[in-house]
Amino acid sequence: MRSRRANIRARVGLQTVAVIGSGLMGRGIAYCAAAGGFRTALHDVSAEALERALSRIRVDLDEGVSRGKLSPADASGALGRIVLEPELEPALRGAGFVIEAVPEDIAIKLSTFARLDSLCPAEVVLASNTSALSVTEIAAATRRPERVLGMHFFNPVPKMKLVEIVRALDTGEAAVAATVEVARRMGKDTVVVKESPGFITSRINAMIGNEAFFMLEEGVASARDIDKALKLGLNHPMGPFELADLVGLDTRLSVLEFLHRTLGEKYRPAPLLVQHVKAGRLGRKAGRGVYDYAGEE
Ligand code: NAD
Repeated sequence: MRSRRANIRARVGLQTVAVIGSGLMGRGIAYCAAAGGFRTALHDVSAEALERALSRIRVDLDEGVSRGKLSPADASGALGRIVLEPELEPALRGAGFVIEAVPEDIAIKLSTFARLDSLCPAEVVLASNTSALSVTEIAAATRRPERVLGMHFFNPVPKMKLVEIVRALDTGEAAVAATVEVARRMGKDTVVVKESPGFITSRINAMIGNEAFFMLEEGVASARDIDKALKLGLNHPMGPFELADLVGLDTRLSVLEFLHRTLGEKYRPAPLLVQHVKAGRLGRKAGRGVYDYAGEE
């Protein structure tokens, strides 16, 4: 049984969340943690990334106020709870829960988790926002695999409601329960998934997107009509091609290649998708994907 002191430490510690990596995802995660009432220590190896993250969080908070999601007082309270930390050790001081959002590179994840493990008290849960790497492998870089799990947020984090909690081979129930509670306080709803390629969302989404490309290739319908059918007939907020263009066709292709490698034949990327990527038609970011965005900002 845990000592009374450890229990008290864990409760007090849960006032503070540390977010490691302040890029696209880390800054959104920090926004939600601070808006959810946590003192939020945001760390990045790049001081410039930290400053960029803070100005982006300011913009997001202002937007939250103008959309009526936050009162001006809530927004300034949230901003006041964010502490930028260019060094890792002070970022972790007093943190009861750590969320990692460093680049999707296994070597960086493993060295980050080994350091987190050496610097955080044993009861602290370490969560990774990895999209596709093995959380079991990441957990094995620590001496607390029962307190390591995946916490898969969606972009844009402030607006997307779901967090997939990924249970690795040795993840314990207490860590899952603590993560559900942290996510709830951050305003998120959760599902718990066993570690497997693509979790729930990326696996199904990649399948729908791939099928749409096969249908386009077969001439079943136009891209506009396939998008329209999924929006008006199945109530999807965006059509599969609109979404693929937004995410980036190269990103979509690399997810499918990964699922094909790990789960088998039914995830083989549609030839038309591969052709779009080869042509440089990568979606909105390239000005052209399935649709043409020339002239748009
Ligand atoms: P990003 O490149 O925007 O940000 C990563 C940040 O980590 C950078 O600011 C970088 O300076 C910093 N960094 C690098 N090494 C570091 C280290 N050792 N310690 C601390 N900070 C370090 O990446 P992102 O899009 O925010 O992705 C982060 C993670 O979230 C990845 O694992 C990614 O797969 C996952 N993810 C991304 C999305 C998405 O839509 N972009 C969605 C879900 C999950």
